[in-house]
Amino acid sequence: MNIDRISESVLSVKPAYTDIIRFHAKIFRLQEDYKAKIDLGEMIENELTAAGNTTSDGPLLLRSAFPLDISASKSLLAELCRIEGREVMNEVVAVVRNAVNADPALPEKLFKGVLNDDREIFEQAGAKIDVDLEILEFYGRESIEPSVVYVSERIAEGRPERDHDALKGYCPICGSLPSFALIDDSGKRKLVCAFCKHQWPVNRIYCPWCENTDQKTLKYLSIEQEEAYRISVCEKCNHYIKTIMLDKLPYPFHIGMEMCGTLHLDMISEKNGFLSIEGRSGTFTG
Ligand SMILES: [Zn+2]
Ligand SMILES: [Zn+2]
Repeated sequence: MNIDRISESVLSVKPAYTDIIRFHAKIFRLQEDYKAKIDLGEMIENELTAAGNTTSDGPLLLRSAFPLDISASKSLLAELCRIEGREVMNEVVAVVRNAVNADPALPEKLFKGVLNDDREIFEQAGAKIDVDLEILEFYGRESIEPSVVYVSERIAEGRPERDHDALKGYCPICGSLPSFALIDDSGKRKLVCAFCKHQWPVNRIYCPWCENTDQKTLKYLSIEQEEAYRISVCEKCNHYIKTIMLDKLPYPFHIGMEMCGTLHLDMISEKNGFLSIEGRSGTFTG
């Protein structure tokens, strides 16, 4: 479905998100265009063979090893740096745009920082740039997104779900942590990877952060007037994960749109004393 139609339909229910969703919708549209043109040549074939031959229970291709279409990522970054939003956002975008124009090596440093989930790389790359490192990370992440999702889809293609993945809190494809959970139309619970967007089925009674399976300490916070959302909380490790009930969502499901249109759920969770996973390592380490 067309991004503009989805974003307008989300905004008819969530007008408070107008600025953020309009801004991100432009990014999602570009990412879709770029994903259709990704060219990884032989790089992807080698990784597909390696993933197909793996006998380990761990991730099939660690995020640090994801091949990227560098020229597409660079050209997408240049386009992202031209997307405007609110006034204050435009100032930030201009700083990033000038930094990218001034240092031809910067894009690849940002891509490497995202692949390795390494704050130090951003600290070095951003030492002389007057923006928060999160902003640089955002631009790096969004620029490589088409390659990353393309590679993840190719690896997952035709591959049966592995039973042991249902009790893993990290993505079976790339080893990253999930960004949220969903309950699909058939009632199956899935986690959605924060890095490659892969969805993998997990047990309904299960905390992805501490692997708790004790029903008594795994609860839901319901959200008033928004029956499509719940917050799954774990009283053992005190963390939460946002959960989307797809059959109750009043607009078409789009991962990116849900990522930016559910910030209020994080505030509710934190008000109730539950922690987000931010600040934890985002990657499987073995
Ligand atoms: Zn993943
Ligand atoms: Zn837990």
